[in-house]
Amino acid sequence: MTDILKLIKDKDPGEKEFHQAVEEVLESVQPVLDRNPQYRKEAVLERIVEPERIIIFRVPWMDDQGQVQVNRGFRIQMNSTIGPYKGGLRFHPSVNLSILKFLAFEQVFKNALTTLAMGGGKGGSDFDPKGKSDNEVMRFCQSFMVELFRHIGPNTDVPAGDIGVGAREIGYLFGMYKKLHNEFTGVLTGKSLGWGGSLIRPEATGYGSVYFAAEMLATQNETLEGKTCLVSGSGNVSQYTVEKIIELGGKVVTLSDSSGYIYDEEGIDADKLTFVKRLKNIKRGRIREYIDKYSEAVYTEADTSLDHNPLWNHKADCAFPSATENEINEKDSMNLMKNGVKLVCEGANMPSVPEAINIFLDNKILYAPGKASNAGGVAVSGLEMAQNSMRLSWPAEEVDQRLKMIMKNIHQTCLDAATEYGKPGNYMAGANIAGFTKVVNAMLDQGLV
Ligand code: NDP
Repeated sequence: MTDILKLIKDKDPGEKEFHQAVEEVLESVQPVLDRNPQYRKEAVLERIVEPERIIIFRVPWMDDQGQVQVNRGFRIQMNSTIGPYKGGLRFHPSVNLSILKFLAFEQVFKNALTTLAMGGGKGGSDFDPKGKSDNEVMRFCQSFMVELFRHIGPNTDVPAGDIGVGAREIGYLFGMYKKLHNEFTGVLTGKSLGWGGSLIRPEATGYGSVYFAAEMLATQNETLEGKTCLVSGSGNVSQYTVEKIIELGGKVVTLSDSSGYIYDEEGIDADKLTFVKRLKNIKRGRIREYIDKYSEAVYTEADTSLDHNPLWNHKADCAFPSATENEINEKDSMNLMKNGVKLVCEGANMPSVPEAINIFLDNKILYAPGKASNAGGVAVSGLEMAQNSMRLSWPAEEVDQRLKMIMKNIHQTCLDAATEYGKPGNYMAGANIAGFTKVVNAMLDQGLV
């Protein structure tokens, strides 16, 4: 294991997020490697950490002042062993190769856990949609697709949304793909309902995360009813996480964005959530505006000089980190434990640093790693691909039912794999072992390609 880590660190020394993601998986799958010596002989680790293909390209576009801007575009085609590459596009100034490689690597195992035929990929750009006009976003998306289109396709690589890429961006990207290819296919997921999107896709990641949390609680004969929950972020995943928690009788007291967070002790109810959706999805405003409308809440500005995020320092039963990677550090995890949190369910990808995860595991709380608990989004993307292939559209209840069943199965798969390898109740070990085993067995079946 250490030799593989050394290999990737020597090869790409700056990619700390990628190293972090690989290290977590390698630690979990050590017992699988011990039990299956042929995996090392076939160099499955060396193969699985190396992307099948990386595409990096220039994205020139013109802003509203007539000034030419240049961003960098990426697509990591990580692993296509069990299906076409599948994974989102992220538009955020922090995007770089390390972040996208970690996301693509996680995606491979996540997609395997869904049981649908999807390989893993991820892409995006360091373009920041914040503060840009719709026209600027459109011109950027069109330029991005003018290069990306030749590398993707409904049976090759099917991108979707992620941070900074929602229905608006998917629309502009799809429009340009269709024009360039002169064909209408399910090449992107997260499309709008009127032209190939699936019902429940916008809700899927957040709903799925809460379904997973409910499954974990059920193992202790508990439910979300009456539980106080901390949710971070205020984008797609956070909004539908809050919606489902409210529906299941829980109380959400926090939401955030990169500028700060709100704490609403009375709870964010359905009306307040509708306000947040309008604020974030239509007005594209900041979460601080919540207190202009609901003065009972308190807003705290983000302060990077602190050694912790005060959002995670409130009395609560459950935490749903749903903003971004490494948003819970060691101190935050200690604060969560001190405040009585008994369940951490990751809506975001890799939101907890390794030291924080160790604290969750040492305290034996219910801890769900993102690659299991946030797999509902890509699962419904898989269902969107199936509907597109059949030129059919399933009713919301049917998609939701399938989503619920998929989350229940992923939960059970994690528990079973963890138990089989002597780590009962450790969802992180279970998710890594089950995802890894499925992918490497398929790689071996397909020979050295
Ligand atoms: P959105 O762009 O809709 O929302 C992201 C939210 O997180 C915003 O509130 C944003 O605030 C905040 N945020 C982003 N970056 C940072 C940062 N560096 N520091 C603090 N806050 C930040 O994205 P999604 O809701 O789609 O994605 C959230 C997370 O869920 C990501 O980790 C993503 O990879 C993961 N995920 C998403 C899926 C999906 O279906 N959308 C599927 C599976 C995982 P601000 O507006 O200030 O940037």
